[in-house]
Amino acid sequence: MPDVVVVGAGVLGASIALEMQRSGRSVTVVDKGVAVGGGSTGSSSAVVRYNFSTLAGVISAWESAHRWWSWADHLDVPEGIGPLATFHRRPMLFLEPAGFDRAHMVGLLEDVGVEWEVLDREVLARRFPQLDTRTFFPPCRPDEARFFDDPGELLDCVVTPDAGFIDDPQLAAANLMDAALLHGSVLRLRTRVVGLATVGGRLAGVRLADGSTISAPVVVNAAGPWSSELNRLAGVTAEMAVPTRPLRQEVHVVPSPDGFSMDDGGVMVADMDLGYYSRPQPGGTLLVGGVEPDCDPLEWLEDPDEASPTPTVECFEAQVWRLARRLPDLAVPHRPTGLAGVYDVTPDWLPIYDRSSLDGFYLAIGTSGNQFKNAPLIGQMMLDLVDACEAGHDHDADPVTTDCHHIGRTLNLGTFSRLRTGVVTSGTVLG
Ligand SMILES: Cc1cc2nc3c(=O)[nH]c(=O)nc-3n(C[C@H](O)[C@H](O)[C@H](O)COP(=O)(O)OP(=O)(O)OC[C@H]3O[C@@H](n4cnc5c(N)ncnc54)[C@H](O)[C@@H]3O)c2cc1C
Repeated sequence: MPDVVVVGAGVLGASIALEMQRSGRSVTVVDKGVAVGGGSTGSSSAVVRYNFSTLAGVISAWESAHRWWSWADHLDVPEGIGPLATFHRRPMLFLEPAGFDRAHMVGLLEDVGVEWEVLDREVLARRFPQLDTRTFFPPCRPDEARFFDDPGELLDCVVTPDAGFIDDPQLAAANLMDAALLHGSVLRLRTRVVGLATVGGRLAGVRLADGSTISAPVVVNAAGPWSSELNRLAGVTAEMAVPTRPLRQEVHVVPSPDGFSMDDGGVMVADMDLGYYSRPQPGGTLLVGGVEPDCDPLEWLEDPDEASPTPTVECFEAQVWRLARRLPDLAVPHRPTGLAGVYDVTPDWLPIYDRSSLDGFYLAIGTSGNQFKNAPLIGQMMLDLVDACEAGHDHDADPVTTDCHHIGRTLNLGTFSRLRTGVVTSGTVLG
C-alpha cells in the first residue's frame, strides 16, 4: 500500500509526487489519460512572470523561477537522462490599463526582490519601434466600430527583465514525473478514480473505474479541471468557501513580425490596455492569449470533457486583431491557428493548496490559468502541508508555512486556503 495517492499526472501532480517520494513517502500517481501532462499542462502557455496581486503569489513565482533556472539541480537526476524542459528568459512588458494601481504591483515586486523598471512613454516607444505604444483602452471586440478608432496618448509600462517561459510544459511535467519514478514512485496511466474509500470517517484510499481500490492514508486531488468532481466524490464541496469551475480558453499562434521573434530579442507582453498577452516561441511564431477583459464572454463548462479543442473564429479574431493593433506589422493568418485548453478557476483567481474536512484528503486545485509557473514549489508546499496536518497540526487555525530557500522568504499557505473570504485580487488570470 502506498503512503500517498496523487490523482492527476499533470505538472502539479508530478511535482507533488517528486517531493513526497523524496521525503521518504511511497507514492502512486494515477491518471485517467494516456500521457503525463496531457490535461491543462499540455496546453499551457507556460509563461513565468511575477506580477501577482498578493505577496504570496509573488513569493511563489519568484522562488519557483529560481528552481526553473536550475532545473537539472531541482530534479536531481543523473546527467544524460532525457531532454529537459528549458527556461527562456524574456523581459515581460506590462502595459497598464487606465487607472491601474502600479504602486501596489511594484511594491510587492520590490518587497520580494524582483527586478522591475518603469519605461516611460518616450523610452518605451523608442526601445520597441515595432509596437504602437498608444492607448486603445478600454478593450473591445473587433465587431464594435470603436475597435478601429485612432488610439490615444502614449502608454507607460513596467518591465520585469527576468520573466520568461518554459519551452515545453508537457516535457517539464514528464521531467518531474521521471524524477519521481527514479526515486521509486509508481505511475498508473489510463486509470480513472471514480470514488474515495473511507473508514470511520477518515480517508482510506481511492476506488478505480475497474472496480479495484488503492488503499492509502493520504490522497491528493491534483485533478486540474476535473478536480471539483473529485471533491464532490469526496463529499467536501459544501465546505469550500472558494468553489472551482472549469473554463475553456484559447491560445493562438501567429507568425512573428520582423524584429519581434525569439531570434530578434522579442519580448513578452501582458497588454492590459488592449486585453491580451503574447510571447515569442522558438520557430518564429508568437502565442497570443486573453486576459479576460470585461468585453469577452467567459466559456464556463459543466464538464471539462465537453470542451471543443478547436479554436473559434470569434476568439481568434478578438485576440489576434488586438495583437495586430499593437503590432501593426503582424500578418494575420486567414483562419484560426492555435489550441483550446481548460483550467479550473476560483472566484478570486488564486489557487487552493489546502487540506479538507475529510482527514487525509488534500487539495492542489483551482489553478486559475496561472500556476504552471509555480509547479516546482507546489510539490514542497503540499509536502509541508501533509507533513504538518498528518502530525495533527490545525492548519485552518494556524497556517503552515513553506521555506523558500532560494530567495530567503517564508510562504504562508493560509493565502491559498479553501476557507478564505474577501481577498482582493486582479480578478483575472493575472491572479
Ligand atoms: C490555455 C492555457 C494557458 C495557460 N497558460 C499559463 C501560463 O502562461 N502560465 C502559467 O503559469 N499557467 C498557465 N496555465 C495554467 C497551467 O497550465 C495550469 O495551472 C497547470 O498546468 C495545472 O496543472 P495540473 O497538474 O493541476 O492539472 P492538469 O495538467 O490538468 O492535470 C490534471 C490531470 O488529472 C487527471 N485526472 C482528472 N480527473 C481524474 C480522475 N478522476 N482520475 C484519474 N485522473 C484524473 C487528468 O487526466 C489530468 O491529466 C495555462 C493553462 C491553459 C489551459
